[in-house]
Amino acid sequence: MIIYIDGKYLPEDQAKISVFDHGFLYGDGVFEGIRAYNGRVFRLKEHVDRMYDSAKTIDLKPPISKEEMIEVICEVLRRNKLDNAYIRPIISRGHGDLGLDPRKCPKPSVVVIAVTWGAMYGDLYEKGLKAITVSIRRNPAECMPPNVKSLNYLNNILAKIEANYKGGDEAIFFDTNGYLSEGSGDNLYVVKNGEILTPPTLNNLRGISRMVLLEIARSLGITVKEQNLGYFDLYTADELICTGTAAEVAPITWCDGRTIGSGKPGPITRQLMAAFKTVTEKEGYPINKK
Ligand code: PMP
Repeated sequence: MIIYIDGKYLPEDQAKISVFDHGFLYGDGVFEGIRAYNGRVFRLKEHVDRMYDSAKTIDLKPPISKEEMIEVICEVLRRNKLDNAYIRPIISRGHGDLGLDPRKCPKPSVVVIAVTWGAMYGDLYEKGLKAITVSIRRNPAECMPPNVKSLNYLNNILAKIEANYKGGDEAIFFDTNGYLSEGSGDNLYVVKNGEILTPPTLNNLRGISRMVLLEIARSLGITVKEQNLGYFDLYTADELICTGTAAEVAPITWCDGRTIGSGKPGPITRQLMAAFKTVTEKEGYPINKK
């Protein structure tokens, strides 16, 4: 496996980051999760834009341009001979001292890893996921905007731990106001009376798959409403869906002991899963442009 670190393409055993890197010491940095399908990187520009917006929010100045980042991502895929992959670009604050002051880190570090990764949830796309609403709340925007895809994922990891102990395949977060937020690594949708309802994005990550799902739904003539949702909406949904780059489009058929809808992936979920697959297979930034 070849990994990009700060201008070099290195084998995995030589791809090393300093213990003084503030990404390691403080989770100070940003990242992305991107997929490539059939030799094309899906929504590459949108992912890189989001990454640079996350970096700007935390006042982190990437040492390479967006165009260079796109080129590095494609080069990592080419060097690893990957046509289908999960890609993890990271920009960390870089090498500093043991204090948290980012002014001690003169040069941010860039890392790009790419691996093969199939369907994240295996047979659960047919059976449906079990979801657990967790007691830990999503970081409020006034403390740590969930729109920033930062290297500090402890909020999400605590949610995942709670869901693991309680037998859930995925955790569902509410925010500190009691509104539905998102999953530990995906966005959420309630299907009710033929319409798709999803929380506005102040209390969750602006998912690229979310953008795609809503585009697809609208193109199929399905009404989409972005609105605050609560436990009631979750438990009484006809269908529940989650989306993410890793998870893709997945059905949730059980939540906190309640069977959702028929207990099987519903018709709108199935329609969206199929349409999402078609879009990911067709679209994307070609890895081999040269
Ligand atoms: N929310 C969180 C917390 C995530 O980590 C992810 C995965 N990046 C998502 C939502 C889904 O975002 P995307 O569709 O862009 O992968």
